[in-house]
Amino acid sequence: PELTKEDVLRKAKDLDVQFIRLQFTDIFGVLKNVAITIDELEKALDGELMFDGSSIEGFVRIEESDMYLRPDPNTFTIFPWRPNQGAVARLICDVYNPDGTPFEGCPRGILKKVIAEAAEMGYTMNVGPELEFFLFHTTEDGRPTLETHDKAGYFDLSPVDQGENARRDMALALGQMGFEIEASHHEVAPGQHEIDFKYADAVTTADNIVTFKFVVRTIAQRHGLHATFMPKPVFGINGSGMHTNQSLMKDGKNAFYDPNGKLELSEIAYYYIGGLMKHARAIAAITNPTVNSYKRLVPGYEAPVYIAWSPRNRSPLIRVPAKRGMSTRIELRNPDPSCNPYLAIAVMLKAGLDGIKNSITPPPPTDRNIYTMTEAERLELGIESLPGSLAEALDELEKDEVIKSALGEHVYSRFMEAKRIEWDNYRKQVHQWEIDQYLTKF
Ligand code: ADP
Ligand code: MG
Ligand code: MG
Ligand code: MG
Ligand code: MG
Repeated sequence: PELTKEDVLRKAKDLDVQFIRLQFTDIFGVLKNVAITIDELEKALDGELMFDGSSIEGFVRIEESDMYLRPDPNTFTIFPWRPNQGAVARLICDVYNPDGTPFEGCPRGILKKVIAEAAEMGYTMNVGPELEFFLFHTTEDGRPTLETHDKAGYFDLSPVDQGENARRDMALALGQMGFEIEASHHEVAPGQHEIDFKYADAVTTADNIVTFKFVVRTIAQRHGLHATFMPKPVFGINGSGMHTNQSLMKDGKNAFYDPNGKLELSEIAYYYIGGLMKHARAIAAITNPTVNSYKRLVPGYEAPVYIAWSPRNRSPLIRVPAKRGMSTRIELRNPDPSCNPYLAIAVMLKAGLDGIKNSITPPPPTDRNIYTMTEAERLELGIESLPGSLAEALDELEKDEVIKSALGEHVYSRFMEAKRIEWDNYRKQVHQWEIDQYLTKF
């Protein structure tokens, strides 16, 4: 049900809200806040609050810095860990130019543009992410470490350390904020967790991902722990992914489902898979946008490396989970939680739509374990790899006009510029590994 400005004003009053945080993300998905008091809420809801866009990374230059925030009334929610009296609420905003046009650097606006393209074709997208994260101990002065006292593994039941308590509180807080928690479990690596929430339309899910990360970090801190969504914090154990389950709806039905189709999948589902696979190498720059992301995408830790799909095994890039009917969906397994979820979902949808528009048929599914194949076998089957580094992913993005068009010139050029610098800074460093390998050898 859509909320109106009046609903928000009434709710804020009923709940004794004193402060409202107006939230949006920069192009890297970093959550930004402008705090206002209850007296300014009406003005804010009318989209009259201005802020200095030049202070936000990837937004605008100083001489064109006036930006306006338009809060989305549907995103109103209270922070349940704050006091009931003088409560704190938040609203997620779209960013607008002074002339009333949507700001082309607003990631939420970019997602909405691709959604509009899907709508023109009769589709709405549903997205359900699975975010993994680590809980680490902090030092006495609050600095994060890489230590965990937790010895548990996948789905372990006994509460072995305070991570279990923290995770329960996270699920509770998220529930109070309107999330439908479907599952919450320990992951494969020590200190690693996953909390799954129910799928929703694309914008709602991107909002939820941003909120999720913020809530998980906040609650962890209250337990004296540090939560990190860094893709591969520790060498030699599993990294953290953000598997992204996606489906399209048309005329109230799941457009990926066809009881008479091969594997009970529709032609549309196959084309969507074809589009994702075609653009996978460029998409990686957005769904796996950090130097560290590519330390996760290596063989041996359940993360995908090869561009293939399968209805069964969990090694390829795309899995089609067994559920059919309304639950028919495609799971893309390379995204990680360091991505900007608005941009990530936008480029995934764009790739799928491109597959549909151009009837891109995917290769047959790969039911064998690709990791045990020889390179020659993979070559023969035409199985390509995901990019091996951020630099390689950026080169791929540079070549992919479809994915670039989803981002728009403004975000594309700023993202590219910043990420090239990020790569270069990394490339110039001398890492411990090199010292260990070469210092005594040469
Ligand atoms: P896995 O088996 O890969 O561990 P999970 O059960 O952890 O998967 O997560 C499945 C996700 O898929 C949940 O977020 C769920 O809400 C979502 N999902 C279910 N049906 C759909 C659908 N039709 N479209 C998109 N996402 C869906
Ligand atoms: Mg899962
Ligand atoms: Mg599951
Ligand atoms: Mg998992
Ligand atoms: Mg999964």
